[in-house]
Amino acid sequence: MKIAKMLAGLTALAAISLGATVANAAGYPERQITMVVPFAAGGPTDTVARLVAESMSKNLGQQIVVENVGGAGGTLGAGRVASSKPDGYTILLHHIGMATSATLYRKLAYDTLNAFEYVGLVTDVPMTIVARKDMAATDLKGLVEYAKANKDKVTVANAGIGAASHLCGMLFMSSIQTPLVTVPYKGTGPAMTDLLGGQVDIMCDQTTNTTKQIQGGTIKAYAVTSPERLSVLKDLPTVKEAGLPQMEVGIWHGVYAPKGTPKEAIDKLDAALKVALKDQNVAARFAELGTVPSSDADATPAALKAKLESEIARWKPVIEAAGQYAD
Ligand code: ASP
Repeated sequence: MKIAKMLAGLTALAAISLGATVANAAGYPERQITMVVPFAAGGPTDTVARLVAESMSKNLGQQIVVENVGGAGGTLGAGRVASSKPDGYTILLHHIGMATSATLYRKLAYDTLNAFEYVGLVTDVPMTIVARKDMAATDLKGLVEYAKANKDKVTVANAGIGAASHLCGMLFMSSIQTPLVTVPYKGTGPAMTDLLGGQVDIMCDQTTNTTKQIQGGTIKAYAVTSPERLSVLKDLPTVKEAGLPQMEVGIWHGVYAPKGTPKEAIDKLDAALKVALKDQNVAARFAELGTVPSSDADATPAALKAKLESEIARWKPVIEAAGQYAD
């Protein structure tokens, strides 16, 4: 009897809280939203997030504030969002690292494929192989020769195991069959500062962080990982042209919310994302940085889910062959 009463009470409570969630979602968003970027401020993921968040804010009528939660190759920030309240007020902008870390970390604090709701794809950014300004090599072949000859002292910056720069550096080292010394940062924003200062030698990073520096001649660039050359960096050969075709890779970005976030909130976020990706200012800034906004068809929950699933499957054997894990 007592138990039956308790159960009835619990059911009533659940109904009330469900009702409240649905009611809140209907009026969503009623207050500021936090967009977690799992890397340091000033880096490429942060740049993409701030451009998109600003435009989405206008459409949603509420401010989206970017919070940088860097560390452990993006897994700390992703974990923070996975365990946040699923009410639409905490969301995540992450990239390909969401897929690679699922294999690289054998003890992740969240279940990659089951901890999130999907909002949509944002953009697919090429990587560039760059080095400090006074690196003597003038082309990729020369850089590879230098790296092989100095493998114990050549340093490669990355944003931790699971980051895009980690994946690209790993592809570089496996392509040239030479392990180099890696230096992890909380994001490639701070890594770029050290590259500019000559404290690290090489980095592979998104064009959203390197284009301005390459154009300004403050770093050296050797190749871009896209299949075609970029119009903003016309003189830069593709990795295929430069002799390392295995390094072709695109860094796709997506927006996620914690599992259980009401569909009404996801729909509104997705609608706002689509509008942001058609915003002329966003498109123009993306173009300057060597990338393009995702299409309407890609800026959807289904497209992001399919991308994440296929990319986990694509990178799993590559990572397993490299045999290097984060734990
Ligand atoms: N570009 C970084 C990476 O390697 C992340 C960042 O700092 O935005 O994944």
